[in-house]
Amino acid sequence: MRSDFLPFAKPSISEEDVAAVTEVLRSGWITTGAGCAAFEEALCERIGCHTAVALTSGTAAMHLALHALGIGPGDEVVTPSLTWVSTINLICMTGATPVFVDVDRDTLMVSPAAVEAAVTDRTRVIIPVDFAGAAVDIDPMRSFCGDRNITVIEDAAHAIGTVRSGGEEVGACGTAIFSLHPIKTITSGEGGVLVTDDPEFGDRIRRLRFHGLGVDAWQRGQQGRSPQAEVIKPGFKYNLPDMNAVLGHSQFNRLDSFIERRTSLAMRYQEQLSSIPGITPLGEANSTAKNSWHLFIVRVDESEAGIDRAGFMDALKTRNIGTGIHFRAAHGHQWYREHTDAWRAGDLTNTNWNDARICSIPLFVGMTTADVDDVVSAIREVVPTAAEVTT
Ligand SMILES: *Cc1c(COP(=O)(O)O)cnc(C)c1O
Repeated sequence: MRSDFLPFAKPSISEEDVAAVTEVLRSGWITTGAGCAAFEEALCERIGCHTAVALTSGTAAMHLALHALGIGPGDEVVTPSLTWVSTINLICMTGATPVFVDVDRDTLMVSPAAVEAAVTDRTRVIIPVDFAGAAVDIDPMRSFCGDRNITVIEDAAHAIGTVRSGGEEVGACGTAIFSLHPIKTITSGEGGVLVTDDPEFGDRIRRLRFHGLGVDAWQRGQQGRSPQAEVIKPGFKYNLPDMNAVLGHSQFNRLDSFIERRTSLAMRYQEQLSSIPGITPLGEANSTAKNSWHLFIVRVDESEAGIDRAGFMDALKTRNIGTGIHFRAAHGHQWYREHTDAWRAGDLTNTNWNDARICSIPLFVGMTTADVDDVVSAIREVVPTAAEVTT
């Protein structure tokens, strides 16, 4: 058994990351400034979007998008229940109604057909999620939403660096949000980004980021904002400080090597787990050309594995292996249980099936192949039916 605890995620911080942050701390300007602008430029250049706005979280990015679209009471927003609760919370707090669609049983992503079936004349926005580093099948959704004046906001919190089957990098087209939380593929400590190919929408988001003043706190060549700046439309305070932005930028420079490492670890898991009954990794999504492997998720099926998910997670923990759940379905959370009756939550069979079984096992850049092997041996030990197969 391992002597040290292996967490399910851990940021990979290099000496360059430390140096970048230190330089900002010594520079005399630590909040949003040149570092943030340079990060945004690098994002646009690599991803191919028109505008990138760096913000304090992925949640802030989604909040500004919903606010800029004027979403409110009477509006419906179509999204999976199997997502991070931040999205559902935001929808509810605007006064709009979330409409949950079921996900594919093996990719945990919504299908264009399921989303289209949930659309009504009240639908204003759909929020599909690129799950665990794969790309959701978004093109058909863009096309039926375009016909009906519905906005697609892609929740790409898991998918920076992911490439769609058509060759398009996630974030290159339409509007998407990324998260830079420490468990995500790259991190700025806390942070998020909204990317869009719509210059006018990008301008609105940028304005909303800093009090609606029409400027950032920092303007090029000025070292500070003009004291005469005026509120054009009331906004929020979601600007990303340079201390965080330079960390995000430094990590972004290593995105390809991060994904390469994650992919090789994930492939080792795929190969070794295939012989363990009842421990089933996610299936491949046809809509994905390059998976960025944000998470490695298995489904623990008690009837085949002889152990349920809670038992599996506990048993791994006693063997010094950390796990997580991404995510508990939103409709199962207390507040949502009490309020969903009024919503048109349709058939959520696959969501519920996965809700009871999904478990994220360790996957991060600093892991070694020996760590993967430790996880797999621990899984073999805790899954009663595994012994029968291997002998
Ligand atoms: C992490 C995450 C978010 C929110 O990002 P934060 O930066 O933590 O606010 C949104 N959606 C999904 C699917 C996420 O995993």
